[in-house]
Amino acid sequence: MVRVRFAPSPTGPLHIGGLRTALFNYLFSRKNNGKFILRIEDTDQQRYVPGAEQYIIDSLNWVGLKYDEGPDVGGDFGPYRQSERLDIYKKYVQQLIDNGWAYYAFDTPEELEQMRQRLREQKSPVQLYNHLTRGDMKNSFTLPEHEVKQLIEKGTPYVIRFNMPANQEIVVYDIIRGEVKVNSDTLDDKILFKSDGFPTYHLANIVDDHLMQISHVIRGEEWLPSLPLHWLLYKAFGWEPPKFAHLPLILKPTGKGKLSKRDGDKMGFPVYPLDWKDPNTGEIIRGYREWGYLPEAVVNILALLGWNPGTDQEIFTIDELIEQFSLERVQKHGARFDPEKAKWFNQQHLKRKSDDELLELFMPILENQGIKAERDYVKRVIQLLKERVEFIEDFWTKGSYFFERPKDYDPKAAKKAWKQNTSEIMLELKDFLSQIQDFSSKNLEEQLKNWVEQKQLSFSKVFTPLRLAIQGNTAGPHLFDMLELLGKQEVLIRIDNAIKHFSQSGK
Ligand code: GLU
Repeated sequence: MVRVRFAPSPTGPLHIGGLRTALFNYLFSRKNNGKFILRIEDTDQQRYVPGAEQYIIDSLNWVGLKYDEGPDVGGDFGPYRQSERLDIYKKYVQQLIDNGWAYYAFDTPEELEQMRQRLREQKSPVQLYNHLTRGDMKNSFTLPEHEVKQLIEKGTPYVIRFNMPANQEIVVYDIIRGEVKVNSDTLDDKILFKSDGFPTYHLANIVDDHLMQISHVIRGEEWLPSLPLHWLLYKAFGWEPPKFAHLPLILKPTGKGKLSKRDGDKMGFPVYPLDWKDPNTGEIIRGYREWGYLPEAVVNILALLGWNPGTDQEIFTIDELIEQFSLERVQKHGARFDPEKAKWFNQQHLKRKSDDELLELFMPILENQGIKAERDYVKRVIQLLKERVEFIEDFWTKGSYFFERPKDYDPKAAKKAWKQNTSEIMLELKDFLSQIQDFSSKNLEEQLKNWVEQKQLSFSKVFTPLRLAIQGNTAGPHLFDMLELLGKQEVLIRIDNAIKHFSQSGK
């Protein structure tokens, strides 16, 4: 039975790297008819950020990664919030103490620093709390048992450390990376538990993965260095470890270094799925959703950051991803995030949506702009602009002229389009248009082209300023379709307005 989990810590907004981890877990579980579990790892009280858990849940819901078990949906292996499982960890850390895999340590921060300083002076390449140093420290190896007991009873702060074995070759298998070999002398006696009653990530993570019967641990590369310790913890408990797969880093657009929030700020792209309001500063950081990305597109973008289907296919629905996904096709090396490509994916998914779906998405934006428009009319606008937009908002930014007259004219476009005699030509054109009865795109195109030829003018001399008058700029959908949709009366008014505007501005 495949059981996988997404185990975020609520220490801030979920980064798209985290969402990709969730996605790969989800795809793997669905592909293998398994279960996908959400577990909130909130044992680090210092780094706990209110609102972060809800943000994680909202983000997963937004992209449609439905989990089978989790803090808000329940399940047979709960609770799914680590802060509600403290007694469990206490019991298991005691087991490690009893069988010699863990021990109490009472060293103060100053004493720890002195130890490191001593090692630096001795030119030791590493300064670790391990079998070489623990004999000189204040712990249950060096102190008599009754003293340890006394210290604990007195409420002296302590930690429980893992008893890392000396000079052991640890070999762990990772599905994506193959064999990972580490000598235990490079590792330290990691803290498993603190006297405040909270376990550290390492202990809680292993205990929960075991108790929740997780079959595959799929997580980010940043956890690879912890893998040997986790492996030993399974051994220490006498438990069968799950299989491991560490996903590659998501790299900056330059390909150098890990993608950070700052890259997003600098280059103008989102790194969080949803808007995040910083609880301290009140600053709002824009998310993919508010930016105008479709959840389908975000899923597609994330899927290809580190995984590839082995074919040329780039556009995927979630069902296609489930069908084709395998951990074997996840790469080891970092995956570069390309903001331009991200927009392209959104455009491709927008194009695949039906006009009615797009209508539902666009109507609220229009309402926000204070525009009241007939649904049929809006749908026709959508049809005209569909090929040209990357985001739903673009229907407004690129097509507001379908709903209101241009308030001004793009100066650069105007300079090129509106020449000395343009106003005159437009006046004549207006006369001509006012006599046309059949204002269909096809008829307009035929008649206007004939008119231009008869007048021995060029198309651009007539159609570019006409477009400018209608839209306020000179790039847009098929001119005659646009005229048809706006209708004769509106077209004539706009030509008139432009003539007035440019005669006042001196042309
Ligand atoms: N709580 C860890 C995190 O925030 C989970 C790591 C893991 O999946 O083991 O990334």
